[in-house]
Amino acid sequence: MSPTLTSERLATRVWAQLVYPPSLRHRRRHPVLTELQHLEQEQWLPAPEMVRIQKSRLLAILSGAMASVPYYRQRLAKRFGSGTPLDLPDAFASWPILTRTELAAARDSLVSTAPLPAAAIWNHTGGSTGEPVSFLQEHHYRVVNLAATARHDRWAGWDFGRPTALLWGADRDLAAAAGWRRRLETRWWRRQVEMDAFEMSAGAMAAFSRRLRRLRPRVLRGYASALDLFARHVMDQGRPFPALGGIISCAETLSSEMRRRLETVFRCKVFDRYGSREFGLIASQCREGRYHVNSRGVYVEILNGDVPAAPGQVGKVIITGLVARAMPLIRYDTGDVAEAAADEACACGRGLPLVGRVHGRVGDFVLTPDGRMIHGEFFTHLFYGSRCVRGFTLTQDAEGGLVLAVTGDGDGLETELREVVAAMTRRLGAGARLEVRHVSDLPPAPSGKRRFVSSDLAARRWADGDVEAGR
Ligand SMILES: [Zn+2]
Repeated sequence: MSPTLTSERLATRVWAQLVYPPSLRHRRRHPVLTELQHLEQEQWLPAPEMVRIQKSRLLAILSGAMASVPYYRQRLAKRFGSGTPLDLPDAFASWPILTRTELAAARDSLVSTAPLPAAAIWNHTGGSTGEPVSFLQEHHYRVVNLAATARHDRWAGWDFGRPTALLWGADRDLAAAAGWRRRLETRWWRRQVEMDAFEMSAGAMAAFSRRLRRLRPRVLRGYASALDLFARHVMDQGRPFPALGGIISCAETLSSEMRRRLETVFRCKVFDRYGSREFGLIASQCREGRYHVNSRGVYVEILNGDVPAAPGQVGKVIITGLVARAMPLIRYDTGDVAEAAADEACACGRGLPLVGRVHGRVGDFVLTPDGRMIHGEFFTHLFYGSRCVRGFTLTQDAEGGLVLAVTGDGDGLETELREVVAAMTRRLGAGARLEVRHVSDLPPAPSGKRRFVSSDLAARRWADGDVEAGR
């Protein structure tokens, strides 16, 4: 065994047993460990037992909402009279869907009138449609979510005391934007190296790469596009990178090309994670590549119209939060689309419910003049093997006009673009309006996420319920 590996193992042991547990106990964080222990055991329960547990959690949330949340009391009384049905799951299907617009408008009446649990704080999201919403989340919600994400980190190869790396853009999550205490804690207690996804210059990536080569993190977490950008940088360096334990890709749709590149460059598996500010972790991939629902935190429905989507069919992701009681979100339309899972159990042996592939947000699709929704990945495929194009975004405005912005150089750029535009035009069909712009830089969205394909038109039409998703 090399001296580096021996000292690494020794350091990990010291951190895991002496340093890390006190840091978790610090400021009431020890409940995270208790919750994590519980989740670790629960994941191996047989699927029918999991279904039973989920139903009882769901029932508790629904009863609480009917008893003490004005919004639900009024809406349900209007719909059902005095006898609101609670015989799950059938009657639950007739509960109203809560849209983002309704959440924004009815925010205060969604807050429970029961005494608020300790340390409930407002969280916010801008969302891809730019419509900001706020929701109240109590301390217990944060504990459960931290435990659920730690459990998934462990699926990817992390454990207490092992170093990690983070490629993130939201200021509130990065230690550099916080005080010295948080920076110290991140670097020395959590052993986490961070890079700001807002500032991914060649110099910043080179420095990050040097730190990772030294620290040898088990797990690298980040936005799919930021991870991909970094993987390209490492490829350009031409030096093999020390193998990582796993990569966790969050917050954006991960294309199959990105996954291949990441797995080649860092010689490990990519574990995709799907979550939101409203609910925290929703579903995440195990080593078998399937998406398991975080059944402690959420109840997930994939709906095609008003009915559950058939296995393999694409539908809207509708979520009921199972933890936050200060402001329960019941049957909330996330604006995302995913496939309903096939029926068979996962080979990893976990009994946690499954969802199929998560396609991301509705706005990641493009709507054609004849009413078809084309998934964004179709467009990323068109650039496979391209030698001159470095990056692109395709945006569709509310009227249907499309702008393809491209960065890149080289003699073949014009020819490549001509071929791509021809393939796009064929797929989009007659009447599509497409403008091509050669730009020097593609700035990320204000959230720091890079979205290759985004459509205001698709997001709006989906909200109106008059489109059908298709590949
Ligand atoms: Zn599995």
